[in-house]
Amino acid sequence: MQKYDPIAEYTDVTPTAQIRPVTHGWRAKCLQRLVRLDLPVPRTVALPAGTVKAIASGLTVDCHGILSHFGADPLISVRPSPENPDWGGPATVLNIGMNAARHALLVKTHGNDAADALYLRFVQSYAIHVARLDPDMFEGAQPSAQALRDALRAYADEMDEPFPEDPARQLAEVLRSMARAWEGTSARLLRQAKGAGPEAGLGLVVQQMAQGIGQGISGSGVMQFVDPVTGHPQVTGRYLGQSQGRDALRRQGAIYLTRDPRGPSLEDLAPEIFADLVNHGTACRARLREEMQIEFTIEDGRLAVLDAVKVQRSSRAALKIAVALADDGIISRAEALLRVEPRALSELLHNQVDPRGPRDRFVKAIAASPGAATGRIVFSSAAAQASAARGEPCILVKRETAPEDIRGMHSAAGVLTERGGVTSHAAVIARGLGLPCVVGASDLRLDAREKKLTAPDGRTFREGDIITVDGTAGEALAGVADLLPPALDDTFRRLLSWADDVRDIGVRANADTPADAQTARDFEAQGIGLCRTEHMFFDEDRLVVMREMIFADTAKDRAAALVRLLPMQRDDFVQLFDIMRGLPVCIRLLDPPLHEFLPHSREGLRELAEALDKPLSDVTRRAEALAEFNPMLGMRGVRLGIVLPEIYDMQAQAIFEATIEIARRGATVVPEIMIPLVSAKREVELVKTRIDAVAAKVRTKSGMDFDYKLGVMVETPRAALRAGEIAQHAAFLSFGTNDLTQMTYGLSRDDAGRFMNTYVQQGVFPEDPFHVLDVDGVGELLHIGAGRGRATRGDLTLSICGEHGGHPESIAFCRKAGFDYVSCSPYRVPLARLAAAHLAL
Ligand code: PEP
Ligand code: MG
Repeated sequence: MQKYDPIAEYTDVTPTAQIRPVTHGWRAKCLQRLVRLDLPVPRTVALPAGTVKAIASGLTVDCHGILSHFGADPLISVRPSPENPDWGGPATVLNIGMNAARHALLVKTHGNDAADALYLRFVQSYAIHVARLDPDMFEGAQPSAQALRDALRAYADEMDEPFPEDPARQLAEVLRSMARAWEGTSARLLRQAKGAGPEAGLGLVVQQMAQGIGQGISGSGVMQFVDPVTGHPQVTGRYLGQSQGRDALRRQGAIYLTRDPRGPSLEDLAPEIFADLVNHGTACRARLREEMQIEFTIEDGRLAVLDAVKVQRSSRAALKIAVALADDGIISRAEALLRVEPRALSELLHNQVDPRGPRDRFVKAIAASPGAATGRIVFSSAAAQASAARGEPCILVKRETAPEDIRGMHSAAGVLTERGGVTSHAAVIARGLGLPCVVGASDLRLDAREKKLTAPDGRTFREGDIITVDGTAGEALAGVADLLPPALDDTFRRLLSWADDVRDIGVRANADTPADAQTARDFEAQGIGLCRTEHMFFDEDRLVVMREMIFADTAKDRAAALVRLLPMQRDDFVQLFDIMRGLPVCIRLLDPPLHEFLPHSREGLRELAEALDKPLSDVTRRAEALAEFNPMLGMRGVRLGIVLPEIYDMQAQAIFEATIEIARRGATVVPEIMIPLVSAKREVELVKTRIDAVAAKVRTKSGMDFDYKLGVMVETPRAALRAGEIAQHAAFLSFGTNDLTQMTYGLSRDDAGRFMNTYVQQGVFPEDPFHVLDVDGVGELLHIGAGRGRATRGDLTLSICGEHGGHPESIAFCRKAGFDYVSCSPYRVPLARLAAAHLAL
């Protein structure tokens, strides 16, 4: 049997050679494509991953054989070529082959300075990357004959042997050190974090040097054809005379590529070479089907293209580039969709901190709602409202927010809280409002009384100081930051319309207010999947009446307050139906415990006593009576609807009357009414009977007919388990995975933030289950609920409306489980549309 001979395994990169990304790596494959395009690529030899692995384990390579591919006295470079460019790799080594004899030859052809510079550069990178000597001893020296002598001596002193003269030995050592670097632990961890498998190998590319240092026009540079931040077509890059590799990006003295009033350019210096480069760029884009950055060298007026890499790009540029490639017929629409990461879309919906600008971070915490905003610090909702009234953007900084902060949050440009996790009040509301928000900044010290905020580094901020909240990165920055505006342009809309053409699961929005509904429409949601009606009662005028209703001593007094709430609710629904014209709107009946509507401070209670014209002691006693030990497991949701049925009656009446009002205006809606926190079939029966009766009454009174659907929100484990019988009375089941997660784990969604980091770090939970759906546990309940519900009723509509609804992983889960739609914050609708399309492709 023939022994495996790694020495034989290297390949000349010609148009017809067998070069494959899996064996030789992406760089080798890309260079072959450039060769096929007839670009002036210097001679290249590719070593496959198997050979490199063998080298790492100590096998020697026939370096004389490799060198013989490059003619007499060659100078060569070695570059890494992993299967995926994102996996990194060891540093490139240039000018292999330099030694005293080669130096003497170069002195004749290129002059002393160029010869010294090239030799010095090689000695430096060999010493650092191959011999692994201390970089401080070799870096930074300006090229000169003396610097070269010093470097050679330093090498000899450290290694106890002179610098190797034999090119074959130099090459062997370079290959060995690069092969071993790839096997190192930190390199492995780094690439695995970027998705590389444990067996990911490294190819290497050996290439003839094109000398950018020497006579005539000589230098090197990089060129690309789009702006990496905006994605607009534009030649950008740098060129530096008398340089090699990527020097132009790192060293002073680079010039522009295109003609530029600010200084000299390559276009002026060498117009023909510039034109060739532009043509090469066009060819690359068309044939490599990607926006590429070209690395080039000019040697005495001759152009060489050494490499091409995918242009690094921002999210907005990624979208622009993908759509432009599809528009030009270079890639298909399906491929354009797949090239845009759904999560990246949310960055385009809001202002973002410009990555090119300065960034003075004072705290890092949880990124609760994307986008960025700058404003003056305020420490209370009242101050936020006052600031908004003055037309001054402000950032609301609080320990945590509560329902009474809604108006303050509406008035703020951004929110920063010391406590809370991804489903805390601040986070949920901010996402709904599209407000940048950072929560759980527990490293901050907040003194609301002194109106002072102290950062971990000791800096203090006071009310009125300007800060920037970066809700995308989960950071707060001192002062003003440069912001990029949202990119909701035609390109964005077109990509999403392509997504709609292919996806097979619906996307609705969670929207409570007309503003939310408008956003949902703007982002082309297919309806409202959850309208949380409690948010409609927090406006000043309603809150008072709501409190009167809560404090009513008799059913008659309660009815009187409800009569006043009815027209306000009806108005809310008319507005929602009007905005959503023709699209389904799913309204959830009142859910939270009543005490959430009561003031929490003594001052607030006094004001309430005044408003209700009752003694403070009465009001305090009543508020205390309403307090519960476990309000989230107490009298809320459907329990409220059964104990105080007049509330749901009023809401149903408002919904039906609004339906009629819309019908009178010539449009139709089929409202969907959803009962929250159900755990037993009987609860649904009781509520359904009353709502049917209200519908009958409204029909009789108005003389008009209308349809509606009644459904159940599945957010207790029992409701999921008993979905079979619950579905007898429900046209739809919508899984509220926030509460369902809370109850499945027995884990408070408002307090979990305190220890979630520790839990995730120690691997107790793979992720925060309030953020990423727990497919194993909560997911099983979803499966059970969906299966049992559909077994009872084949046409049962199934959906998810918890915060998970906007996450690609949860969308994949729901699609697989046969759900009809997902519902998420309006600002996550675009992401959900694209993620759903990815699943269908
Ligand atoms: C849920 O529990 O998943 C839900 C959507 O309702 P809320 O967040 O209002 O409790
Ligand atoms: Mg809930």
